[in-house]
Amino acid sequence: MLIGIDDTDSPAGMCTTYLGAVLARQLIREHMQVREARLVRLNPNVTYKTRGNAAIALDVVGDTDRAFTIACETVEALAEFSCENTNPGVVVAEEQLDPAFYIRAVTDFCEITDATRLLDAAGAQYKGYKNRRGLIGAAAAVASVFTDRTHEILVYRDPALWGTPRDVDRDSLFAAEDATFPHTWDTVDVVNNVVVCVPHTPDPVLFGIRGESPAWVMLARSMIESEKPDIEQIWVTNQGTDAHLRDGGVGGLREGLSYRVHGVVATAPETGTGGHVSFMIEEGDSSVRCMAYEPTKNFRQIVRHLVPGDDVIVCGSFKKSSINLEKIRVVSLAAPVVSRPPVCAACGKRMTSDGRDKGYKCRKCGAHARDPEVREIARRLAGGWYEVPPTARRHLAKPLCRGKPDYSTSQVLMITRDCLVDNKMRLPLVR
Ligand code: ATP
Repeated sequence: MLIGIDDTDSPAGMCTTYLGAVLARQLIREHMQVREARLVRLNPNVTYKTRGNAAIALDVVGDTDRAFTIACETVEALAEFSCENTNPGVVVAEEQLDPAFYIRAVTDFCEITDATRLLDAAGAQYKGYKNRRGLIGAAAAVASVFTDRTHEILVYRDPALWGTPRDVDRDSLFAAEDATFPHTWDTVDVVNNVVVCVPHTPDPVLFGIRGESPAWVMLARSMIESEKPDIEQIWVTNQGTDAHLRDGGVGGLREGLSYRVHGVVATAPETGTGGHVSFMIEEGDSSVRCMAYEPTKNFRQIVRHLVPGDDVIVCGSFKKSSINLEKIRVVSLAAPVVSRPPVCAACGKRMTSDGRDKGYKCRKCGAHARDPEVREIARRLAGGWYEVPPTARRHLAKPLCRGKPDYSTSQVLMITRDCLVDNKMRLPLVR
């Protein structure tokens, strides 16, 4: 069976992954087998989210009625029901749900009734608390199929310490990154000298190490010195896979969705108040603003070197009519020259255009010139992919250390169809 849970925490505490780790141990105590623990990130632009829009799924062998009872009891014991925005959902399904629902939940928006319709059709057991919104994430987690996957070991705090400052040795984090990068990533941000993997919120997480395999995250974890932790759980995740991105055209973007968009730089990047950098890209008659916000730090330096005419692919969420950049590919650079009207040979004044294809005219003495003044500019940018630093990375964004971002939505759909056996979804084995 697959057990899905979502929406159990609040800004004041708890974490759905911790609840899932506790539940896994309760089930094992009841002699059930937990074959996989899945941490599923969903659309990062959902406004109801507490932090990173995470849901969890456990792949369990055992009695479904008993598992459903234990899952509900665990949620009732641990979820932050007092928070208005906490609306837990629990799902137990004997079979894989349609992965199209997961793809929609990670790339788009869903309604609670979309989830209940899916669950009713599948004959799943489910319970939604309060306004039942958590059923969306819980159902999406049970419907999830990862065509690309990474791992995260989450180390949880002793409950007696929740809410107090965390004690994790900084040097050991940098040493762990040094020893295991690029097989692990985002433990620290070396360039900005910042620890990334230790949260500052009052939840049960002490730290989390992300990487390609259980072996790599465990190796990095073994190097980290800290306060005495409570439980630890390795999660199979869609983090760092770009699962949220869909291919889009400059003219047809929808608010709250995340895209990979091809265009040509149309305006020189400008730095606005707060240090945010913006520029326009265009494709045909359409254009859209791209933003590199201040927290993206040194990434803005790359963006500032773009010039009109550069051919780019940008990745990020479309919010408030702008694409918030997560990474960018400079496909080709515009010719490294700028042209402007020449200086009049007779009187030394800069000429102005005399109209389309008519050359230039001196407004002072009336002289004409055919060609513009052409000046070579030094380009400090090479073609290729550039990304925001670890400190600004979103959970789902694929780091470049994992390889070039080359998925397309059609590829994802093709692979999920391949997983169908007798019209039912077969879970790809992960161990
Ligand atoms: P938690 O650790 O509790 O999971 P979180 O930051 O992951 O915290 P939630 O508290 O789960 O955020 O809040 C997200 C809410 O949004 C959940 O109720 C979830 O069911 C819902 N949700 C997730 N994805 C979508 C989506 N694509 N469309 C609509 N609602 C969604």
